[in-house]
Amino acid sequence: MVKKKGKFWVCEECFLRYEEKEWAEKCEGWCKKYRACNIEITKHAILK
Ligand SMILES: [Zn+2]
Repeated sequence: MVKKKGKFWVCEECFLRYEEKEWAEKCEGWCKKYRACNIEITKHAILK
């Protein structure tokens, strides 16, 4: 399950953070299934 951390949602598989829960959930779904990141999803991550 994605976790709320401060104002971000965190994918528990790859620990990327997202502003929107929807993207964090998509990321986690993909990470669990493919064990790799999808650039189309991770480009929505907060990189800082
Ligand atoms: Zn992920």
